[in-house]
Amino acid sequence: MNDELRNLYQEVIVDHGRKPRNFRKIDGATGIAEGFNPLCGDQLTLYVKLADGVIEDIAFQGAGCAISKASASLMTMALKGKKQEEALALFGRVHDMLTEGPNGEVKPEEVGKLAVLSGVWEFPMRVKCATLAWHTLRSALEASGAQISTE
Ligand code: ZN
Repeated sequence: MNDELRNLYQEVIVDHGRKPRNFRKIDGATGIAEGFNPLCGDQLTLYVKLADGVIEDIAFQGAGCAISKASASLMTMALKGKKQEEALALFGRVHDMLTEGPNGEVKPEEVGKLAVLSGVWEFPMRVKCATLAWHTLRSALEASGAQISTE
């Protein structure tokens, strides 16, 4: 990653950390889950409204570091209107990107705007900050009665 791209990604993370999008409750959510990352102290509550297997609305509230909030903010933006299978498939790609980095099979362009988090893999302590929202999403979908496949 060149410096220019790194700086751009950093700016997006700081922006979303300061002004997270979809930072609210959802009345009538079909699934609500709590996530906590004791390593950093990040905590969030994720709200999902599922209709016919499609994520009609998704939002979160909570407190934590810029990476945890930016990751949750970007995740909600990426997933609104997506089918739950698509959401879980994207989770798989983001997880690979964060844990394998450039050595993995997933290229940053395969995760859309979430590519801004691609530099996080260099900081193993922060990977859990970035994946917290996604693990919480899985719980929220389960709470919605969705069929979650671990494949
Ligand atoms: Zn954190």
